[in-house]
Amino acid sequence: MTVIERREGARIQDRLFIGGRFVDALDGATFETRNPHDDSVLANVAQAAPDDIDRAVAAAAAAYPAWARRAAVDRGRLLLKLADRIEEAADELATLESLDTGHPIRDSRRLDVVRTAATFRYFGGMADKIQGDVIPVEVGFLNYVQREPLGVVGMIVPWNFPLMFCSWKMGPALAAGNTVVMKPAALTPLSALRLAELMAEVGVPEGVVNIVPGPGRSAGLHLAQHPDVAKIAFTGSTETGREIVRASAGNLKRIQLELGGKGANIVFADADLTAAVNGSAFAIFHNQGQACIAGSRLMLDETIAEEFLARFIELADSIRVGDPLQPSTEMGPLTSREHRERVLSYVEIARSEGGEILTGGDIPNDPALAKGYYIRPTVVRAAGRSRVSQEEVFGPLVTVTTFRSDAEAVRLANEVEYGLGGGLWTRDVSRAHRIATQLHTGMVWINTYKRVNPGSPFGGVGRSGYGREMGFEAIHDYTQAKSVWLNVDADIPPFYARD
Ligand code: NAD
Repeated sequence: MTVIERREGARIQDRLFIGGRFVDALDGATFETRNPHDDSVLANVAQAAPDDIDRAVAAAAAAYPAWARRAAVDRGRLLLKLADRIEEAADELATLESLDTGHPIRDSRRLDVVRTAATFRYFGGMADKIQGDVIPVEVGFLNYVQREPLGVVGMIVPWNFPLMFCSWKMGPALAAGNTVVMKPAALTPLSALRLAELMAEVGVPEGVVNIVPGPGRSAGLHLAQHPDVAKIAFTGSTETGREIVRASAGNLKRIQLELGGKGANIVFADADLTAAVNGSAFAIFHNQGQACIAGSRLMLDETIAEEFLARFIELADSIRVGDPLQPSTEMGPLTSREHRERVLSYVEIARSEGGEILTGGDIPNDPALAKGYYIRPTVVRAAGRSRVSQEEVFGPLVTVTTFRSDAEAVRLANEVEYGLGGGLWTRDVSRAHRIATQLHTGMVWINTYKRVNPGSPFGGVGRSGYGREMGFEAIHDYTQAKSVWLNVDADIPPFYARD
């Protein structure tokens, strides 16, 4: 086990965080986390096994009664302090996230870290606004409904936005009075562990949050099966989501699933093409396309398709791919070598299906990037029913199809099994509302793409999962209703009348 060290000014914490302390795994196991820019080892991180998960759940269970009873305003105050602390440490956190994930530093700094602080702040403010209801029942009775926390919530997240997902899940869970066991993805554990340090600094009590990086199939599965865990909040692939639902059956724990996506991005002939070209490039190439809400299926009205594509490809080719820590970099490497292989395999799948690679589909020809997991922005003309158009690639690869009518655009958009996000570009307000209603998704963006805000519900339909993050919807998902009846002065005849 290494001692804590700094890389590029970022503090690296490499042990499990359980019961308010950083500890080794019980069996002493560690795993390497690598820098996707140059394949160097960033840290050897303690690897949680099932008995470490048991320790973390026990710590969270022990901390739960006091945390749930604590005045809501105090829980909120801690989250507000945490938001401030994250902002103070913004440069360092952004560097750490970029080192571990490959996000360009300009994105980690202005998106990931900013949104993480904003989300904790939003839920900090909400902690003492979680209100119940009074129900108008029969005269003489008072019936009120209070929203109570669930208990220990297990969280399992992927590697694409590790810091931000901590805030999306922990913010509402903690505000509502739950305690947490978080299992980050083994590829990207560092920002969650550093966040644990910041939480301890601002006074989050020991055991309230526990961070246990480790493999999905052992540590993650054990958490999903755990009888003392009341809920699993999961973000990841649809296949793993299914496994988690099965694993949860033992104690019938609640499940929230944020799964895969294959976002349709529809450009109508009356769109502002300059805005649509730029927004569509952001929709797919931001974070190297490693986003569940990526606009990975571009659908173009056939009358503007050639003009749009010429401009879109020119922009894609000009995206500055390079070292994530360079401020000028617009696209970094993919987060793992294996994942790059997977994305490149879809280029071959596209070719074998008769798709046309319009640009990219290969590794950049730059010796400075040779050790990293880079791939060029890729645009593929492909049929709507082809595999590359149907399956989630999760990389900087966008498929392009054309349509002739609004009805055809909607049919194409809805012919995938996913239903997370989708977007459309048009100047026609009625068309915008009409098509937004017809898309089978949890989120729709009009003349923009991939907007998120802590107040706005985030989640999908169909095989993109169920439950919602953010806003009051999230608080609903991290609490349960208790209905309390009080006989104030009800005038009811006895049920068993006796003389
Ligand atoms: P993944 O499903 O392989 O892994 C996600 C997490 O689950 C990781 O922490 C992993 O260790 C854990 N895990 C894996 N197998 C497990 C098991 N059997 N039991 C318990 N835990 C297990 O996903 P990934 O490849 O890391 O991430 C990419 C996927 O995440 C994509 O499908 C993407 O769309 C999805 N995603 C969805 C959202 C959303 O909000 N809907 C956001 C981001 C990513």
